[in-house]
Amino acid sequence: MLNFDYYIPTRILFGAGSLNKLDKISLPGKKALIVTTGGTSVKKYGYLDRVIALLKENGGTEAVVFDKVLPNPIRKHVMEAAGICRKEGCDFVIGLGGGSPIDTAKSVAIMAKNPGDYWDYIHGGSGQGKPIEGGVLPIVAITTTAGTGTEADPWTVITHEEKNEKIGFGCSATFPTLSVVDPELMLTVPPKLTAYQGFDALFHSTEGYLANIATPISDLYALKSIELIGRYLPEAVENGENLEARTQVALANTLSGMVESVSSCISEHSMEHAMSAFFPQLPHGAGLIMISLAYYTYWAEKAPERMTKMAEAMGADTAALPEEKRPYAFVEALRKLQKACGVDELKMSDYGIREEDLPKLVENARHTMGGLFTLDPVPMSDEDVLKIYRDSYR
Ligand SMILES: [Zn+2]
Repeated sequence: MLNFDYYIPTRILFGAGSLNKLDKISLPGKKALIVTTGGTSVKKYGYLDRVIALLKENGGTEAVVFDKVLPNPIRKHVMEAAGICRKEGCDFVIGLGGGSPIDTAKSVAIMAKNPGDYWDYIHGGSGQGKPIEGGVLPIVAITTTAGTGTEADPWTVITHEEKNEKIGFGCSATFPTLSVVDPELMLTVPPKLTAYQGFDALFHSTEGYLANIATPISDLYALKSIELIGRYLPEAVENGENLEARTQVALANTLSGMVESVSSCISEHSMEHAMSAFFPQLPHGAGLIMISLAYYTYWAEKAPERMTKMAEAMGADTAALPEEKRPYAFVEALRKLQKACGVDELKMSDYGIREEDLPKLVENARHTMGGLFTLDPVPMSDEDVLKIYRDSYR
Protein backbone atom coordinates (compact mmCIF):
# COMPACT_ATOMS: atom_id res chain seq x y z
CA MET A 1 0.00 0.00 0.00
CA LEU A 2 1.25 3.44 -0.91
CA ASN A 3 0.99 6.30 1.54
CA PHE A 4 3.31 9.15 2.41
CA ASP A 5 3.52 12.61 3.91
CA TYR A 6 5.08 15.14 1.54
CA TYR A 7 6.03 18.47 3.12
CA ILE A 8 8.61 20.94 1.75
CA PRO A 9 7.42 24.46 2.62
CA THR A 10 10.51 26.31 1.37
CA ARG A 11 10.43 28.97 -1.33
CA ILE A 12 13.56 28.37 -3.42
CA LEU A 13 15.07 31.04 -5.66
CA PHE A 14 17.28 28.98 -7.96
CA GLY A 15 19.69 30.03 -10.69
CA ALA A 16 22.59 32.25 -11.64
CA GLY A 17 22.06 35.79 -10.36
CA SER A 18 19.21 34.90 -8.02
CA LEU A 19 20.92 36.53 -5.02
CA ASN A 20 20.05 39.88 -6.62
CA LYS A 21 16.36 39.18 -6.01
CA LEU A 22 16.95 39.57 -2.29
CA ASP A 23 16.21 43.30 -2.52
CA LYS A 24 12.56 42.78 -3.47
CA ILE A 25 11.52 39.36 -2.24
CA SER A 26 9.19 39.22 0.76
CA LEU A 27 11.32 38.66 3.86
CA PRO A 28 10.10 37.07 7.09
CA GLY A 29 11.30 39.90 9.37
CA LYS A 30 12.82 43.35 9.79
CA LYS A 31 16.11 42.56 11.51
CA ALA A 32 18.27 39.58 10.58
CA LEU A 33 21.02 37.79 12.42
CA ILE A 34 23.34 36.72 9.60
CA VAL A 35 25.16 33.55 10.65
CA THR A 36 28.24 32.89 8.59
CA THR A 37 31.54 31.08 8.57
CA GLY A 38 34.69 31.98 10.44
CA GLY A 39 36.55 31.43 7.15
CA THR A 40 37.34 34.26 4.79
CA SER A 41 35.50 33.39 1.55
CA VAL A 42 32.14 35.15 2.17
CA LYS A 43 34.05 38.36 2.94
CA LYS A 44 36.80 38.01 0.36
CA TYR A 45 34.31 37.55 -2.49
CA GLY A 46 32.01 40.26 -1.15
CA TYR A 47 29.00 37.99 -0.54
CA LEU A 48 28.45 39.24 3.01
CA ASP A 49 28.53 42.91 2.00
CA ARG A 50 26.20 42.21 -0.90
CA VAL A 51 23.68 40.48 1.34
CA ILE A 52 23.76 43.31 3.88
CA ALA A 53 23.27 45.91 1.09
CA LEU A 54 20.42 43.96 -0.54
CA LEU A 55 18.66 43.61 2.81
CA LYS A 56 18.94 47.33 3.37
CA GLU A 57 17.45 48.04 -0.04
CA ASN A 58 14.62 45.69 0.88
CA GLY A 59 12.66 48.10 3.08
CA GLY A 60 15.62 48.97 5.27
CA THR A 61 15.98 45.48 6.74
CA GLU A 62 18.70 45.59 9.40
CA ALA A 63 21.40 42.98 9.95
CA VAL A 64 23.70 41.83 12.75
CA VAL A 65 26.56 39.44 11.86
CA PHE A 66 27.81 36.35 13.72
CA ASP A 67 30.89 35.08 11.87
CA LYS A 68 32.52 32.35 13.92
CA VAL A 69 31.03 29.14 12.54
CA LEU A 70 33.52 26.26 12.12
CA PRO A 71 33.53 23.72 9.25
CA ASN A 72 32.13 21.16 11.70
CA PRO A 73 29.77 23.53 13.60
CA ILE A 74 29.56 23.30 17.38
CA ARG A 75 26.94 23.70 20.11
CA LYS A 76 28.85 26.50 21.81
CA HIS A 77 28.47 28.75 18.78
CA VAL A 78 24.75 27.98 18.54
CA MET A 79 24.30 29.18 22.12
CA GLU A 80 26.49 32.24 21.64
CA ALA A 81 24.74 33.34 18.44
CA ALA A 82 21.29 32.71 19.98
CA GLY A 83 22.27 35.02 22.85
CA ILE A 84 23.23 37.76 20.37
CA CYS A 85 20.01 37.19 18.44
CA ARG A 86 17.92 37.77 21.59
CA LYS A 87 19.95 40.71 22.81
CA GLU A 88 19.78 42.47 19.44
CA GLY A 89 16.09 41.69 18.95
CA CYS A 90 16.57 39.94 15.61
CA ASP A 91 13.32 38.50 14.27
CA PHE A 92 14.77 36.12 11.65
CA VAL A 93 18.02 34.27 11.03
CA ILE A 94 19.97 34.06 7.77
CA GLY A 95 22.51 31.30 7.20
CA LEU A 96 25.07 32.47 4.63
CA GLY A 97 27.71 30.08 3.31
CA GLY A 98 27.91 26.29 3.16
CA GLY A 99 26.07 23.73 5.22
CA SER A 100 27.80 24.68 8.47
CA PRO A 101 26.51 28.27 8.81
CA ILE A 102 23.08 27.37 7.46
CA ASP A 103 22.74 24.48 9.89
CA THR A 104 23.95 26.72 12.71
CA ALA A 105 21.35 29.34 11.67
CA LYS A 106 18.60 26.74 12.00
CA SER A 107 19.77 25.75 15.48
CA VAL A 108 20.10 29.42 16.47
CA ALA A 109 16.52 29.99 15.28
CA ILE A 110 15.44 27.32 17.78
CA MET A 111 17.54 28.56 20.69
CA ALA A 112 16.57 32.22 20.19
CA LYS A 113 13.06 31.24 21.28
CA ASN A 114 13.56 28.35 23.68
CA PRO A 115 15.15 28.16 27.14
CA GLY A 116 18.04 26.02 28.37
CA ASP A 117 20.74 24.36 26.33
CA TYR A 118 20.55 23.22 22.70
CA TRP A 119 21.31 19.63 23.75
CA ASP A 120 18.12 19.64 25.90
CA TYR A 121 16.18 19.31 22.63
CA ILE A 122 18.39 16.82 20.81
CA HIS A 123 17.28 13.23 20.26
CA GLY A 124 20.12 10.72 20.47
CA GLY A 125 23.35 10.54 22.45
CA SER A 126 23.14 12.47 25.72
CA GLY A 127 20.39 14.77 24.33
CA GLN A 128 17.30 15.19 26.49
CA GLY A 129 14.76 15.07 23.63
CA LYS A 130 12.56 17.83 25.11
CA PRO A 131 9.80 19.23 22.89
CA ILE A 132 10.34 22.65 21.26
CA GLU A 133 7.50 24.66 22.76
CA GLY A 134 8.66 28.24 22.23
CA GLY A 135 8.51 28.21 18.44
CA VAL A 136 11.35 28.82 15.98
CA LEU A 137 12.41 32.09 14.29
CA PRO A 138 12.01 32.14 10.48
CA ILE A 139 15.10 30.92 8.63
CA VAL A 140 16.58 32.13 5.33
CA ALA A 141 19.31 30.04 3.67
CA ILE A 142 21.77 31.53 1.19
CA THR A 143 24.03 28.74 0.04
CA THR A 144 27.47 29.33 -1.45
CA THR A 145 28.30 25.63 -1.86
CA ALA A 146 26.59 22.54 -3.28
CA GLY A 147 26.80 19.83 -0.68
CA THR A 148 24.46 19.43 2.23
CA GLY A 149 21.08 20.16 0.64
CA THR A 150 20.25 21.99 3.86
CA GLU A 151 18.53 24.78 1.89
CA ALA A 152 15.77 22.32 0.99
CA ASP A 153 15.46 20.28 4.17
CA PRO A 154 14.78 20.85 7.88
CA TRP A 155 17.97 19.21 9.15
CA THR A 156 20.82 20.75 11.10
CA VAL A 157 23.89 18.84 12.18
CA ILE A 158 25.75 20.18 15.20
CA THR A 159 28.56 18.67 17.27
CA HIS A 160 28.61 18.72 21.08
CA GLU A 161 32.26 19.65 21.36
CA GLU A 162 32.72 18.20 24.86
CA LYS A 163 30.94 14.90 24.24
CA ASN A 164 32.05 13.92 20.71
CA GLU A 165 28.42 13.72 19.67
CA LYS A 166 27.60 14.92 16.15
CA ILE A 167 23.85 14.71 15.76
CA GLY A 168 21.30 15.71 13.14
CA PHE A 169 18.11 17.36 14.31
CA GLY A 170 15.16 19.23 12.87
CA CYS A 171 11.38 19.60 12.78
CA SER A 172 8.79 21.06 10.45
CA ALA A 173 9.61 24.57 11.74
CA THR A 174 13.29 24.32 10.79
CA PHE A 175 12.72 24.27 7.05
CA PRO A 176 14.00 27.57 5.65
CA THR A 177 11.10 29.81 4.65
CA LEU A 178 13.27 31.14 1.83
CA SER A 179 16.39 29.73 0.17
CA VAL A 180 18.65 31.32 -2.41
CA VAL A 181 20.64 28.91 -4.57
CA ASP A 182 22.80 31.04 -6.83
CA PRO A 183 25.48 29.01 -8.66
CA GLU A 184 27.44 32.20 -9.34
CA LEU A 185 28.33 32.20 -5.64
CA MET A 186 29.82 28.70 -6.05
CA LEU A 187 32.30 29.50 -8.83
CA THR A 188 35.11 30.12 -6.35
CA VAL A 189 34.77 26.94 -4.26
CA PRO A 190 38.16 25.15 -4.46
CA PRO A 191 38.31 21.78 -6.31
CA LYS A 192 38.75 19.59 -3.25
CA LEU A 193 35.79 21.10 -1.39
CA THR A 194 33.68 20.96 -4.55
CA ALA A 195 34.38 17.23 -4.69
CA TYR A 196 33.72 16.57 -0.99
CA GLN A 197 30.48 18.52 -1.07
CA GLY A 198 29.35 16.98 -4.35
CA PHE A 199 29.82 13.48 -2.94
CA ASP A 200 27.89 14.47 0.18
CA ALA A 201 24.97 15.47 -2.07
CA LEU A 202 25.36 12.21 -3.99
CA PHE A 203 25.14 10.15 -0.81
CA HIS A 204 22.09 12.05 0.48
CA SER A 205 20.40 10.87 -2.70
CA THR A 206 21.76 7.30 -2.76
CA GLU A 207 20.92 6.78 0.92
CA GLY A 208 17.50 8.37 0.44
CA TYR A 209 16.91 6.03 -2.50
CA LEU A 210 17.88 2.93 -0.49
CA ALA A 211 15.99 3.98 2.67
CA ASN A 212 13.02 1.83 3.62
CA ILE A 213 10.85 4.98 3.74
CA ALA A 214 11.63 6.07 0.15
CA THR A 215 8.58 7.15 -1.84
CA PRO A 216 7.92 7.47 -5.59
CA ILE A 217 8.58 11.21 -5.27
CA SER A 218 11.85 10.92 -3.38
CA ASP A 219 12.88 8.27 -5.93
CA LEU A 220 12.42 10.75 -8.79
CA TYR A 221 14.48 13.40 -7.05
CA ALA A 222 17.14 10.92 -5.96
CA LEU A 223 17.73 9.31 -9.36
CA LYS A 224 17.85 12.69 -11.10
CA SER A 225 20.29 13.99 -8.50
CA ILE A 226 22.53 10.90 -8.83
CA GLU A 227 22.51 11.31 -12.62
CA LEU A 228 23.47 15.00 -12.45
CA ILE A 229 26.31 14.42 -9.98
CA GLY A 230 27.68 11.57 -12.10
CA ARG A 231 27.57 13.74 -15.19
CA TYR A 232 28.66 17.16 -13.96
CA LEU A 233 30.70 16.82 -10.77
CA PRO A 234 34.05 15.96 -12.46
CA GLU A 235 33.72 19.08 -14.65
CA ALA A 236 32.76 21.29 -11.68
CA VAL A 237 35.84 20.00 -9.84
CA GLU A 238 38.16 20.39 -12.80
CA ASN A 239 36.77 23.66 -14.14
CA GLY A 240 35.31 25.54 -11.22
CA GLU A 241 34.34 28.54 -13.31
CA ASN A 242 32.08 26.47 -15.59
CA LEU A 243 28.71 27.96 -14.64
CA GLU A 244 26.71 25.26 -16.39
CA ALA A 245 28.45 22.48 -14.45
CA ARG A 246 28.07 24.46 -11.20
CA THR A 247 24.37 24.99 -11.92
CA GLN A 248 23.71 21.30 -12.57
CA VAL A 249 25.61 20.26 -9.43
CA ALA A 250 23.68 22.89 -7.44
CA LEU A 251 20.43 21.46 -8.78
CA ALA A 252 21.55 17.95 -7.83
CA ASN A 253 22.29 19.25 -4.35
CA THR A 254 18.93 20.99 -3.89
CA LEU A 255 17.20 17.83 -5.12
CA SER A 256 19.20 15.81 -2.61
CA GLY A 257 17.94 18.13 0.15
CA MET A 258 14.40 17.39 -0.99
CA VAL A 259 15.25 13.68 -0.84
CA GLU A 260 16.34 14.18 2.77
CA SER A 261 13.07 15.96 3.46
CA VAL A 262 10.74 13.29 2.09
CA SER A 263 12.95 10.22 2.53
CA SER A 264 16.04 10.14 4.77
CA CYS A 265 19.70 9.42 5.07
CA ILE A 266 20.55 5.98 6.41
CA SER A 267 23.42 4.39 8.34
CA GLU A 268 26.24 5.70 6.11
CA HIS A 269 25.63 9.11 7.66
CA SER A 270 25.58 7.73 11.22
CA MET A 271 28.91 6.08 10.47
CA GLU A 272 30.46 9.26 9.10
CA HIS A 273 29.17 11.44 11.93
CA ALA A 274 30.97 9.15 14.36
CA MET A 275 34.20 9.69 12.42
CA SER A 276 34.04 13.48 12.29
CA ALA A 277 32.69 13.71 15.86
CA PHE A 278 36.01 12.30 17.12
CA PHE A 279 38.13 13.78 14.35
CA PRO A 280 36.55 17.19 13.64
CA GLN A 281 39.24 18.16 11.14
CA LEU A 282 37.84 15.46 8.84
CA PRO A 283 35.45 17.05 6.29
CA HIS A 284 32.06 15.32 6.28
CA GLY A 285 32.15 14.60 2.54
CA ALA A 286 35.67 13.17 2.75
CA GLY A 287 34.60 10.84 5.58
CA LEU A 288 31.68 9.59 3.52
CA ILE A 289 33.91 8.98 0.50
CA MET A 290 36.34 6.94 2.65
CA ILE A 291 33.71 4.39 3.68
CA SER A 292 31.54 4.49 0.57
CA LEU A 293 33.02 1.67 -1.56
CA ALA A 294 32.76 -0.87 1.26
CA TYR A 295 29.39 0.51 2.32
CA TYR A 296 27.76 0.18 -1.11
CA THR A 297 29.41 -3.19 -1.74
CA TYR A 298 27.47 -4.33 1.35
CA TRP A 299 24.17 -3.13 -0.15
CA ALA A 300 24.89 -4.61 -3.60
CA GLU A 301 24.03 -8.01 -2.21
CA LYS A 302 21.24 -6.91 0.13
CA ALA A 303 19.38 -4.36 -2.04
CA PRO A 304 20.25 -5.48 -5.60
CA GLU A 305 17.35 -3.92 -7.48
CA ARG A 306 17.80 -0.43 -6.10
CA MET A 307 21.58 -0.63 -6.46
CA THR A 308 21.12 -1.55 -10.13
CA LYS A 309 18.85 1.46 -10.70
CA MET A 310 21.47 3.69 -9.07
CA ALA A 311 24.16 2.24 -11.34
CA GLU A 312 21.99 3.07 -14.35
CA ALA A 313 21.50 6.63 -13.09
CA MET A 314 25.29 6.92 -12.97
CA GLY A 315 25.38 5.93 -16.63
CA ALA A 316 26.41 2.27 -16.27
CA ASP A 317 25.27 -0.08 -19.02
CA THR A 318 23.90 -2.76 -16.73
CA ALA A 319 22.09 -4.60 -19.54
CA ALA A 320 25.49 -5.76 -20.79
CA LEU A 321 26.21 -7.47 -17.46
CA PRO A 322 25.04 -10.78 -16.01
CA GLU A 323 22.23 -10.14 -13.54
CA GLU A 324 24.24 -10.88 -10.40
CA LYS A 325 26.90 -8.32 -11.37
CA ARG A 326 24.49 -5.45 -12.07
CA PRO A 327 24.18 -4.08 -8.53
CA TYR A 328 27.98 -3.96 -8.26
CA ALA A 329 28.06 -1.68 -11.30
CA PHE A 330 27.13 1.15 -8.93
CA VAL A 331 30.23 0.47 -6.83
CA GLU A 332 32.33 0.53 -10.00
CA ALA A 333 30.71 3.77 -11.16
CA LEU A 334 31.39 5.26 -7.73
CA ARG A 335 35.03 4.18 -7.92
CA LYS A 336 35.37 5.84 -11.33
CA LEU A 337 33.69 9.03 -10.17
CA GLN A 338 36.03 9.24 -7.18
CA LYS A 339 39.00 8.90 -9.49
CA ALA A 340 37.62 11.48 -11.92
CA CYS A 341 37.22 13.93 -9.03
CA GLY A 342 40.65 13.19 -7.55
CA VAL A 343 39.35 11.85 -4.23
CA ASP A 344 40.16 8.15 -4.63
CA GLU A 345 43.24 8.30 -2.40
CA LEU A 346 41.67 9.56 0.84
CA LYS A 347 42.88 7.74 3.95
CA MET A 348 41.44 7.65 7.46
CA SER A 349 44.98 7.50 8.82
CA ASP A 350 45.73 10.90 7.26
CA TYR A 351 43.19 12.38 9.69
CA GLY A 352 44.59 10.61 12.73
CA ILE A 353 42.12 7.72 12.82
CA ARG A 354 43.84 4.55 14.06
CA GLU A 355 42.60 1.06 13.36
CA GLU A 356 41.99 0.53 17.09
CA ASP A 357 39.57 3.50 17.07
CA LEU A 358 37.14 1.66 14.81
CA PRO A 359 35.13 -0.23 17.50
CA LYS A 360 34.61 3.10 19.31
CA LEU A 361 33.18 4.55 16.09
CA VAL A 362 30.75 1.63 15.75
CA GLU A 363 29.46 2.32 19.25
CA ASN A 364 29.23 6.10 18.71
CA ALA A 365 27.38 5.70 15.40
CA ARG A 366 24.74 3.52 17.05
CA HIS A 367 24.50 5.63 20.23
CA THR A 368 24.23 9.09 18.67
CA MET A 369 22.56 8.46 15.31
CA GLY A 370 20.97 5.04 15.86
CA GLY A 371 17.70 6.21 14.35
CA LEU A 372 19.09 6.15 10.82
CA PHE A 373 19.99 2.45 11.14
CA THR A 374 16.26 1.70 11.47
CA LEU A 375 15.75 3.15 7.98
CA ASP A 376 18.28 0.81 6.31
CA PRO A 377 16.84 -1.58 3.71
CA VAL A 378 17.62 -4.48 6.08
CA PRO A 379 19.03 -4.29 9.61
CA MET A 380 22.81 -3.90 9.80
CA SER A 381 24.61 -5.50 12.77
CA ASP A 382 27.49 -3.93 14.71
CA GLU A 383 29.74 -6.60 13.15
CA ASP A 384 28.64 -5.46 9.68
CA VAL A 385 29.41 -1.83 10.58
CA LEU A 386 32.83 -2.75 11.95
CA LYS A 387 33.60 -4.75 8.83
CA ILE A 388 32.74 -1.76 6.60
CA TYR A 389 35.05 0.48 8.66
CA ARG A 390 37.79 -2.20 8.58
CA ASP A 391 37.47 -2.78 4.83
CA SER A 392 37.68 0.99 4.32
CA TYR A 393 40.65 1.55 6.59
CA ARG A 394 43.85 2.79 4.99
ZN1 LIG B 1 25.73 14.71 4.58
